[in-house]
Amino acid sequence: KDMPVVGEKKVLLAAPRGYCAGVDRAVVAVEKALERYGAPVYVRKQIVHNIHVVRTLERMGAIFVEEVDEVPEGAHVVFSAHGVSPAVVQGAEDRGLQAIDATCPLVTKVHREAVRFARQDMEILLIGHEGHEEVEGTAGEAPNHVTIVNSPDDVEGLVVKDPHKLVWLSQTTLSVDETMETVRRLRTRFPHLQDPPSDDICYATQNRQVAIKKVAKDADLVIVVGSANSSNSVRLVEVALEYGARAAYRVDYADEVKQEWLDGVNTVGVTSGASVPEVLVQELLDDLAEAGYGTVEAVVTAEEDLVFSLPKELRKDASGNR
Ligand code: SF4
Repeated sequence: KDMPVVGEKKVLLAAPRGYCAGVDRAVVAVEKALERYGAPVYVRKQIVHNIHVVRTLERMGAIFVEEVDEVPEGAHVVFSAHGVSPAVVQGAEDRGLQAIDATCPLVTKVHREAVRFARQDMEILLIGHEGHEEVEGTAGEAPNHVTIVNSPDDVEGLVVKDPHKLVWLSQTTLSVDETMETVRRLRTRFPHLQDPPSDDICYATQNRQVAIKKVAKDADLVIVVGSANSSNSVRLVEVALEYGARAAYRVDYADEVKQEWLDGVNTVGVTSGASVPEVLVQELLDDLAEAGYGTVEAVVTAEEDLVFSLPKELRKDASGNR
């Protein structure tokens, strides 16, 4: 066999990538609910922000709705991993729905922080994307105390009630660097700003960003598998570009990769968002191998072994309905 020539084509495969503990738990919760109660099981919003996952669960009998008033009275409804506001929980109760709460525990943690700071009559500057389901859920815990800060550029025009009673919290799936920049600017304007008790950007978001940074500096092209509405997946594209990838794209499926993306490319970085099943990455690697990128090197920056137990509504039934 010939020695590899300079500029050999290869893939740098980021790790960690793909499913986080919160997504895994939420998807299994819908599967278990289908197993236990039979189809259909209703799910408010996409259980996780991945089109493949949603289609697969639909085929198994899940019905995705936007709001609980679309669910027949008395039926089972699963709340998505992104969390819900107390108003949604109340709405489900009013309809007599059997709710199964698949909110990621790391999102619930931020909800608790919001409730606690609101009780202390603090104003909460919630860094996150307006309109994102997670932000709506968290803000809904303390609607009169939350101001949403979308980006570093939002800071300048911010009007607060009392600069001495300010705390910041954040969405779990943001860019770590951009969030730190937002906080830096907030602190410049409001020196008394309090920090949250612990990181709100979750371990999975952080780990995937660290891994893609390392990959991106050696990659001509980065391909992120993930859906357009997946915040953490979209951030991975941005981070890859900031850290040296000449180009970076997001795809839902391998067949969206355009031939011309590979023109003159030796090294392709690959990763996937926290809501992406590994089978989709495998399909991409198969296609890349066919295009000559059969050599795959893992770039590992952390090991993950976190597992969350199922939502309590499912645990209770599993132990025999005591
Ligand atoms: Fe939970 Fe983070 Fe996964 Fe979101 S990305 S479900 S916050 S672990």
